[in-house]
Amino acid sequence: YGEFNHKIDYVFKVVLIGDSAVGKSQLLARFARNEFSLDSKATIGVEFQTRTLVIDHKVVKAQIWDTAGQERYRAVTSAYYRGAVGAMLVYDMTKRQSFDHINIVIMLVGNKADLGTLRAVPAEDAKEFAEREGLFFMETSALDATNVEPAFLSVLTEIYRVVT
Ligand code: GDP
Ligand code: MG
Repeated sequence: YGEFNHKIDYVFKVVLIGDSAVGKSQLLARFARNEFSLDSKATIGVEFQTRTLVIDHKVVKAQIWDTAGQERYRAVTSAYYRGAVGAMLVYDMTKRQSFDHINIVIMLVGNKADLGTLRAVPAEDAKEFAEREGLFFMETSALDATNVEPAFLSVLTEIYRVVT
């Protein structure tokens, strides 16, 4: 758990997401300091903690962000997600509701389809990525309205399917 003195090759920001009291702060305390407390108030106010580790011979500094209790008020701000390359969705195995809340429907949207001649991302690449990650995928154009309704409607229909 000690910090490394050599140069850092990568910094990865990862955010913890989930209902209040599912154990986000304690998971972070365990990972960053190998600590655990049954008193949840102990860690409120902490923004992020880091741990440096070696992955594939590279020095990786993990910067793990905690909500600092903001999830209670649904007030988690965009600054929380900014620059994040990963997210951990946490639920409490003993609280069904905390799992239902995390059932998030994610769609990958390739926008500006009207600029087809400038395409730099093949539809196949995006499709493969979406399939691998279990995401819905659609290419849209806000300019000429292509697939905008279908994109939103399929996300909303899927959410409806999940929550009802
Ligand atoms: P947060 O609101 O998601 O950050 O949740 P906390 O990390 O503050 O944890 C909420 C409560 O659950 C605290 O009382 C913790 O001690 C407890 N807790 C967290 N993780 C675990 C765990 O793995 N097992 C058990 N039994 N309790 C836990
Ligand atoms: Mg917390």
